[in-house]
Amino acid sequence: MTTAITTVNPATGRPIATYAGWDAGRIDAAVDRAHTAATAWARVPVAERARLAARLAVTLREHSGRLASLAVEEMGKPRRQAEGEVEKSALTAEYYARQGPGILADEQVEVGGADAWVAYEPAGLVLAVMPWNFPVWQVMRFAIPSLVAGNGVLLKHAANVTGSALALQDIFTAAGFPEHLVTALVVAEPDVPDATARLIGDDRIAAVTLTGSNRAGAAVGAAAGRAAKKSVLELGGSDAFVVLDDADIEAAAAAAVTARFANTGQSCVCAKRFILSAPIAEAFTSAFTAGVEALRMGDPRQEDTQVGPLAREDLRTAIHRQVTESVVAGAKLLTGGEPLPGDGYFYRPTVLAHTAPGMPAFDEETFGPLAALTVARDDDDAVRLANATPYGLGLSVWTGDRARGLALARRITSGAAFINAIVASDPRLPFGGTKHSGHGRELAAAGIREFTNTRTYWIA
Ligand code: NDP
Repeated sequence: MTTAITTVNPATGRPIATYAGWDAGRIDAAVDRAHTAATAWARVPVAERARLAARLAVTLREHSGRLASLAVEEMGKPRRQAEGEVEKSALTAEYYARQGPGILADEQVEVGGADAWVAYEPAGLVLAVMPWNFPVWQVMRFAIPSLVAGNGVLLKHAANVTGSALALQDIFTAAGFPEHLVTALVVAEPDVPDATARLIGDDRIAAVTLTGSNRAGAAVGAAAGRAAKKSVLELGGSDAFVVLDDADIEAAAAAAVTARFANTGQSCVCAKRFILSAPIAEAFTSAFTAGVEALRMGDPRQEDTQVGPLAREDLRTAIHRQVTESVVAGAKLLTGGEPLPGDGYFYRPTVLAHTAPGMPAFDEETFGPLAALTVARDDDDAVRLANATPYGLGLSVWTGDRARGLALARRITSGAAFINAIVASDPRLPFGGTKHSGHGRELAAAGIREFTNTRTYWIA
């Protein structure tokens, strides 16, 4: 069955464009071309692959305006943040252009009596199932290292950013990468689960990476397991932002507003649960709530807009359910808590106090402009609350005492711990989750090696 995708501008609720979904025959032909391109690419020397990554950085910057406009239009990202996403992708291309060849170089190993080394060889064609929340960056942070590693990329992007997906494919060819090496597949509902499962089982595809919900991650991970293929899963998060009683409260509150409301709260590493030491809870709460109320929400095309609409209507419905059910369960609404009347999928930036385990705002991933505040009796209680989640992606701890912050962080399970800083990805450092936040790493040396054949050579 093949249907169509209609993209919708979430700031207005009006349709943008309609794309016919590809049938099985068209997908198969695209996989064939991509596989041929990836096989040839694997023989291209790493220095040349890195040179094209450097070209990609230039091309991304040349097309930044167009890519940012697509992100604004298709998922409502405030303009300046959309431009930032493209620039971060360009910096990542430069990072791998410089560092990729060194990271992938053979590693000699002393074994005595033989010549032995480890090589990082291309894995092949990798399927990337990607989400809409960073339509450029999510794709680039996987595709750039994978291409430098010598792989091909099949992109199954989220339906609501299909225009961005097709534009990204063009960016790679404009930068000089061979045609078909990066292929955007247009797969429409309800074909997505079956089509992706079939692709994962296809012998021409070596591995799969997914960024998205736990539901989609479970489906893709299961298909990869059945096919005995490597998967990297970057799933949800419910990151704790812990403020201790010796923290700089003004600095922590200002950072907390950015950490929660960047990208209109739609990021896996947005801080979601704010765990506050009892002595500073009141001061933090009033500074933070004032900061939230000062946020400028509105037309994402405007340069000074800080909070846009949610990317889809169902996402707004989901966040409103989490707010109302949490309030019924005993949370206290300090600000926001309702959709904005009128066109588009806007939701008022919301702060809930007195949240606790058992409430959706605490237990579930909240993917929108909603902050959940909780008071901790002491450091042990802060650790207990921070760990009381199925997720484990990032952690942010605020304190005047570095050793205390580090000691606390070591007791909380996560893929990253930031002290007196907001959790953010950086191409120089690995990024990924623990627990239900997924497995595998992106970025840095760990990320580029995920999709290589770590191969042993031994010559007697
Ligand atoms: P999804 O996980 O449904 O979408 C992410 C990608 O997975 C899309 O390309 C989607 O395709 C695809 N997909 C969905 N179902 C399957 C499946 N069964 N098999 C293979 N691929 C699949 O996320 P949503 O957009 O529905 O968002 C829901 C929630 O997920 C959010 O509220 C948030 O909690 C979480 N999320 C987390 C992200 C993160 O960065 N970790 C990013 C996005 C969402 P299609 O669009 O065609 O359905």
